[in-house]
Formats: sequence, structure tokens, C-alpha cells
Amino acid sequence: MIEPDFVEPGFERLHCSGCGMTFWRKPRPRASGHAFCSRQCFAAFHRRLTPKARRWFYGVKEQFPAKACEHCGEQFEPKYYHVRFCSTRCRVAAHRKKAVTQHDKTCPFDAPDR
Ligand SMILES: [Zn+2]
Ligand SMILES: [Zn+2]
Repeated sequence: MIEPDFVEPGFERLHCSGCGMTFWRKPRPRASGHAFCSRQCFAAFHRRLTPKARRWFYGVKEQFPAKACEHCGEQFEPKYYHVRFCSTRCRVAAHRKKAVTQHDKTCPFDAPDR
């Protein structure tokens, strides 16, 4: 929301969608209707979003640089900046591997056969 009481030339007054504080910024297109005073507020806001809201927030045109899948090492283009795996399969496999590792550590006599 923009308050029209006083506007510094070249800047617009915005309310941070994270902490609610007022701040000034050079106007730029805001497809989502949200603005943030800091990276921290941006991150905190995103943590609270549901996956569906996140998809809406980013829209379909967002592009992020290609990165290597943390499971198979394959280069892929993530749809969202926080994506770490090239596919659901790799994500599930990596999660399973981590779970087994943790299990081995806590209970060496009850490790599942592999
Ligand atoms: Zn803020
Ligand atoms: Zn992968």
C-alpha cells in the first residue's frame, strides 16, 4: 500500500509485507503487489507462504540460473530459486538417503538391509 501524504521525488513510500514498516524505494514493477524493506523480511515472508501461494507469487515467467542437482549432479533449470534437485525422484532419493544415514548414526544395530 502506498500512502500519498508525502512522496519524495523519484521514490515511492511502501509498507514492507514482512514487518509492516514504512520504507522508501525507487518505483519498480511489482507484479505480486508485495514489497520488502530487507532480504530478511523477504525470506521470512516466503517461509510463511504455502507452495501454492509461492507459485502464484513467482508466476510462471520467473527464470533462475541452471544449477547442479544435489543428488545426481545433473545440470537443470530450477523453476524456483530454492529448488535443489532436478526432479521429484532425486529429491525423494536424497531425502531417503539422509534418513537412512541418520538412522545408522542413532541406532547401529537396527540399520535396514541394503
Ligand atoms: Zn520489513
Ligand atoms: Zn537429480
